[in-house]
Amino acid sequence: MSDRILEKVQILADAAKYDVSCSSSGSKRQNHNKGLGNASDGICHTYTEDGRCVSLLKILLTNFCIYDCAYCVTRKSNDIKRAAFTVQEVVDLTINFYRRNYIEGLFLSSGIFKNADYTMERLVSVAKKLRLEHKFNGYIHLKSIPGASDELMHEAGLYADRLSVNIEMPTEKGLKLLAPDKDRKDMIQPMNYLKEAIILHTDEKRLLKTSPIFAPAGQTTQMIIGATQETDKEIMYAADRFYKGFNLKRVYYSGYVPISNDKRLPGLDTGVPMVRENRLYQTDWLMRFYGFKVQEILNDFNPHLDLDIDPKLSWALRNLSLFPLDINKADLQLILRVPGIGVQSAQKIVAARKFHKLNWDHLTKIGIALNKAKYFIVCNSREIFQKDFSATKIKQFILSGSSSKYIKHNTEQLALF
Ligand code: SF4
Repeated sequence: MSDRILEKVQILADAAKYDVSCSSSGSKRQNHNKGLGNASDGICHTYTEDGRCVSLLKILLTNFCIYDCAYCVTRKSNDIKRAAFTVQEVVDLTINFYRRNYIEGLFLSSGIFKNADYTMERLVSVAKKLRLEHKFNGYIHLKSIPGASDELMHEAGLYADRLSVNIEMPTEKGLKLLAPDKDRKDMIQPMNYLKEAIILHTDEKRLLKTSPIFAPAGQTTQMIIGATQETDKEIMYAADRFYKGFNLKRVYYSGYVPISNDKRLPGLDTGVPMVRENRLYQTDWLMRFYGFKVQEILNDFNPHLDLDIDPKLSWALRNLSLFPLDINKADLQLILRVPGIGVQSAQKIVAARKFHKLNWDHLTKIGIALNKAKYFIVCNSREIFQKDFSATKIKQFILSGSSSKYIKHNTEQLALF
């Protein structure tokens, strides 16, 4: 690789690391002393639909941008080194990295030069050249540029596996404050187009095997958390609307990284705690895989997620009257709501109890986290965990890692555990 290209890779891979859709970018591990492997600039990992982990070249086409979004390192007023690849340079890099087995795909985003369509056309050209000229079958994730035309979004869908439009701020108010030049409608329009086109192409493919595939890995979006004052409720209600309105595969929550002392931002020493990001992702999973409605977890009485306990435990402690559940009788949907029981464990419980009644030993073998679950369930055992504890007491036991110490026998005797 020439020095000129290497410098571009360093600048444009570094600028791409703020996009969390592929979150392992930015590793600088070097291979010394003939060790095995070498993490290069711009290589990151993501997971495909079937659960495979693939390494991607994650890079911006350019970090020149006509916009000045306060939260973004690429904003035009930021005094940073700028660079831009040509379409051919990104194609060559991808093919070279692919042939050397460094990567299995490409994640390509960009600052906006000139206008949305001009930039989007170049992103699409990279994917098109890779697919048509090089018969490249690796994974391609293209960022869609807000305001790009339907025609370009259509072309993008024909060549990319996944497309994503970042909605940036959870609310329009936040967007107006930090990115006043941007219009939410410009983000919604390509998302809407993609949603309709994906449905249409999926239906066509069912009827006609030869019809082209279109964005088979769907569309995603990303929100920046903590740059504005939105509550967790506002963030997750926005995510819920986007999941429902646009059939999104994922919403990513990217904690704001302090990059500027702009008065509209929280300040240089106030990053978003990782645990907040983590709690938002846990809530997202509860909504997508555990049957929770967002309003059950966050509402006017609870606009913020607890940082010290996970949202499922928090919900269970607020709803103690629903517990304990009899693990040998309760519906799958209710078992999924027990803290410490994941989707797979819940399914295993329902399958196993067809053959015999389950006791604590069986549940331990199935792999549930008994340290949490034991306060919310009963099973085929003489012992039940003391169920008259208050929510505060249970939280205290779980957080301290201590046990309730007592098991209350069904015969009402108390015994030391
Ligand atoms: S348009 Fe995108 S790249 Fe440009 S400043 Fe805004 S967030 Fe950054």
